[in-house]
Parts: sequence; structure tokens; C-alpha cells
Amino acid sequence: MSLRVLVVEDDREIRSMMQSSLAVEGFEVQTAVSVSEASALLHHSLPDVLVLDLGLPDGDGLELVHEVRKRHSLPILVVSARHQEAEKIRLLDAGADDYLTKPFSVGELLARIRVALRHRGTALEPASTVHELDDLRIDLNLRLVQLKGEPVHLTPTEFKLLARLVRSAGRVVTHRQLLADVWGPEFTEHTHYLRLYMGQLRAKIEADPAEPRHLLTESGVGYRLATV
Ligand code: CA
Repeated sequence: MSLRVLVVEDDREIRSMMQSSLAVEGFEVQTAVSVSEASALLHHSLPDVLVLDLGLPDGDGLELVHEVRKRHSLPILVVSARHQEAEKIRLLDAGADDYLTKPFSVGELLARIRVALRHRGTALEPASTVHELDDLRIDLNLRLVQLKGEPVHLTPTEFKLLARLVRSAGRVVTHRQLLADVWGPEFTEHTHYLRLYMGQLRAKIEADPAEPRHLLTESGVGYRLATV
């Protein structure tokens, strides 16, 4: 099981840089572009780490630090272009773990995340790469999908989509997240891609595509790869 990071950042370039570098490190990355979107996601499920920009279009990231700290102890790392000492102190007082001033390097961000997790006794685990349930076996390292011992041929995009679900096996992955991770951040509104490719995948790996056993629909939210 990989650790989940929620990146809240309205700057598209910085957001997609953080998203791809954290994904490469084996984190499961969710993104939000505003205080309201982040609140909604946090309400739905809690990440292991929160990476937060301060200047957001509908408010200040500081509000989120307060909101999250009322109830949760997860590490919060703030990234911001603001330099004032007073601002940093206010953030740390509010409960943020650490503070990175833009521009920062990916290596620096990862190092800070590791430290914050270590403080809480959470070790970094590699993302899961093998998935087995009933007659279905998926090995991401070998790029192998087998049904009843027979290889299943998938197109590169079908494989990418399935692999994304394997990395979060048992958990719901939102439409937006799947589209961003498989097709790219500019495709998050193209939900018809998902319907099409999910249909193709189900035709290949489900005994009855109309009554899926593996690729489950979470109505209005996303999809989940069944683990039980
Ligand atoms: Ca910003």
C-alpha cells in the first residue's frame, strides 16, 4: 500500500511537477486547486501527508491548516512564495510541520516529507505491484495480466489505467485523479475516456462485464479495484 499525499496548489505547473515527482517516488498523489476542493477531498478521505500552497484562489491555505489540525495529526507541509518570518511562525503555530519557500527543489520537498513521516513513525513503503483476486493476476513489474492462467492482452493505455488502480487497490480513485494520472492533468474533464476504457478493460478481465467483480464503479466519484 502506498502512502497518499494531497497536493493543494493552484499553479498548474508547480502542481503537475509535484504530482509527477511524488508519483515516481511511489506516493499516491491527489491534487486540489482551491481551499474548497481540498476541504471536500479531506472530508471524503484523509491522506497520509498534506502539501499545501498558501495563496489559493478562494482563500488562504492557513484556513486549511486550522481546519485539519482541529481533528487530525497528519503531517502538513506548506509551500509558499511568502517570505515573512511572522507568516512562517503563524503557520507553525497553527500546526504546520514545515515550511518550504518557492522556488524549492523536488529533492528538498521529498526530504521534508520523509522527515515529517519519520516523526510520526510512518516508514515509506513501496507501492503495491502485484494484485491477485480470484482468477485475475496482475504483475506490474512484469507488465503481465493473467486471467485463469492465460495472458490477457491490453493496449498501453488500458494497462496504464489498470496499473493506476492496482497501485490504489481497494481504494476509490476519483475520475479526475485517474484522468490526470493516465492521460495527463489537461484531461481531467474528459470523463468519456474513462467510460470507454473501463468498458474495454471490463470486457477483457470480467467474467460478466455488466456485473463487474473487479473493476467497481463508485457512482459519481470514481472507480475501485476490488481486493476482496
Ligand atoms: Ca498559489
